Amino acid sequence: MSEKEISSAVIKRLPRYYRYLGELLRNNVDRISSQELSKKMNVTASQIRQDLNNFGGFGQQGYGYNVEYLHTEIAKILGLDQENKLIIVGAGNLGQALANYDFSKKGFRIIGIFDINEEVIGKEIGGLVVQHIDKMKEVVEENGVNMAALTVPKTAAKGIAKSLVEYGIRAFWNFASIDLQLSKEEVVVENVHLAESLMRLSYNVNKQRNKE
Ligand code: ATP
Repeated sequence: MSEKEISSAVIKRLPRYYRYLGELLRNNVDRISSQELSKKMNVTASQIRQDLNNFGGFGQQGYGYNVEYLHTEIAKILGLDQENKLIIVGAGNLGQALANYDFSKKGFRIIGIFDINEEVIGKEIGGLVVQHIDKMKEVVEENGVNMAALTVPKTAAKGIAKSLVEYGIRAFWNFASIDLQLSKEEVVVENVHLAESLMRLSYNVNKQRNKE
């Protein structure tokens, strides 16, 4: 099945399916109907069936879904069956928080963390020693790094991303408050603008307040 046919709305929902199925697996549930899953996830059963039909269904009439199989298949679709190797660029508060977080259970290995500030270079964070950005090319190429988290100020993000594309990185997890536009077609960017997310929350709080 070609990935192109799958809408981005479905792809956006897949990590949530993956998380719920993982929980079911840990609770030794081996099969679940779309109705039961729908109650747990608070989405309609028909949405679940529609979403999973994109990948050939996985379900059987009268049986429901085999939890382990579905979990494994979604992992494959999300590329979690292969290890993703990640570097973090910018060892400020956010970069350090990411380096300290354990992403390994999800198949993401943090290979290195880089900065230009001599005060932070050499510091150990989450089992990694912060290296000078000059070392980045070598580390990326030698370790087959395929993803980069950008936790640098927005003024630095674009230049760093451009260099990383030259070193072979095609996936960016961008925390800098800038919309990265990179010329190469195959480059993918996932923007995580934390302040924007907080603003949306603020909007909803405000809306509630105005109702009271
Ligand atoms: P955060 O935004 O993560 O809370 P911060 O407030 O400590 O971090 P920022 O100014 O946002 O600091 O910078 C984040 C990190 O990026 C800092 O450690 C800074 O030294 C680093 N940095 C800035 N410019 C570059 C660059 N060109 N290359 C690599 N690292 C850089």
